[in-house]
Amino acid sequence: MSIVETVSCLDGYDPNALRVDTANEAIRSCLTPVTQSESIPIRDALGRVLAQDIVPAINVPAHDNSAMDGYAVRFSDLKEETLLEEIGSAFAGRVFEGKVGPGQCVRIMTGAVMPAGTDTVVIQEITKKDNGRIAIPAGQKAKQNVRYAGEDLKAGVPVLKSGRMIRPADLGLIASLGIGSVQAKRKLRVAFFATGDELASIGKPLREGEVYDSNRYTLYGMLSRLGVQISDLGVVRDDPAALEAAFRTASSQSDVVITTGGVSVGEADFVKQLMARLGEVLFWKIAMRPGRPMAFGKIGDAFLFGLPGNPVAVMVTFYQFVRDALMHLSGRTDEYTVPLMKVTSSHPLRKVPGRTEYQRGILFREDAEWKVRTTGQQGAGVLRSMSEANCFIVLEHERGRVEAGEAVSVQLFEGLA
Ligand code: AMP
Ligand code: MG
Repeated sequence: MSIVETVSCLDGYDPNALRVDTANEAIRSCLTPVTQSESIPIRDALGRVLAQDIVPAINVPAHDNSAMDGYAVRFSDLKEETLLEEIGSAFAGRVFEGKVGPGQCVRIMTGAVMPAGTDTVVIQEITKKDNGRIAIPAGQKAKQNVRYAGEDLKAGVPVLKSGRMIRPADLGLIASLGIGSVQAKRKLRVAFFATGDELASIGKPLREGEVYDSNRYTLYGMLSRLGVQISDLGVVRDDPAALEAAFRTASSQSDVVITTGGVSVGEADFVKQLMARLGEVLFWKIAMRPGRPMAFGKIGDAFLFGLPGNPVAVMVTFYQFVRDALMHLSGRTDEYTVPLMKVTSSHPLRKVPGRTEYQRGILFREDAEWKVRTTGQQGAGVLRSMSEANCFIVLEHERGRVEAGEAVSVQLFEGLA
């Protein structure tokens, strides 16, 4: 045991009975985010982490302009009903050059700059032509239907902060300032491999006792979605020399190394000895289901996440520990935690207090209400449960059995933006 209790940033954590939240806290206390950045064109910045504040050099919109099609008028002219002389037109992108005097108005389109002298727009639909004049009905409000310069973005007022992950709206916002490239944090480099003598690779016939390796594919999928730079080092046999070589290669070329398998009680001993030689790694038993055994630590400058081998446990531990760690390491300082929502459980759920459970759930709509049920069989090897699910049902550490109709927390798999 003593060989694995020396991880300096993990002093004081008991590896044998860690709660999920404590484990996350322990991991967080070890991590140091990337600092290097590079200049990239804005399209390439989608999903990347901003490494500069965006401070507008211009107002958006740059000029006061009309929010509607209608007539630009001087509000001070308006009485009960007013007849105005139309002296020209203002189009989006084509400014009306003249000045609008008392008793006059200008036909204006959405987005056109407000002509000098006007301050209010009356929508086309409520006006009438009356002997070549424009009749404006009573009841208009000063400054109505006008979009003011700087009402979206103000010159000099920071709008996006360094550390934010760039989303589609941000791309448009940066473009609206006329900015073509931004500083982004460099991508995090993540290497991974699967361990196990029983693993067969796609393309090879399956011999007795073997399973096709699926973990590298779910890892590939999950990591790709997070926008990190990935390096797949394949399947590594449960053999000390092969494992040592894989760990050395992985840790020398990446910021994070993720492995699957080899951390359960039956297997951990020789991996532990290897880790003690190569770096500082702690083997944890986490009070959770699925995903109890896990290793975390450092090999050289790389952080290691040794995930369990069971396919569902891999995904659950990835989403509950690795994802947020990668976000933090990538330099994100915006809110990236996946929120928990409360919905009604349509069925009873078996659960014992003393561990956090991540049951695979299907969120569905019944009448007007969102409810959740499980996908059925919840074994850590039943990968179909992850495929069928659209959320985790998160059953908190202290919680016991859930009755039908009780509220439970869910974590959605898909997000909008
Ligand atoms: P382990 O954590 O190495 O003891 O593995 C636990 C279970 O997960 C065993 O049934 C393994 O066969 C299975 N397993 C481990 N690695 C993989 C993998 N890459 N793909 C599919 N199943 C795996
Ligand atoms: Mg194994």
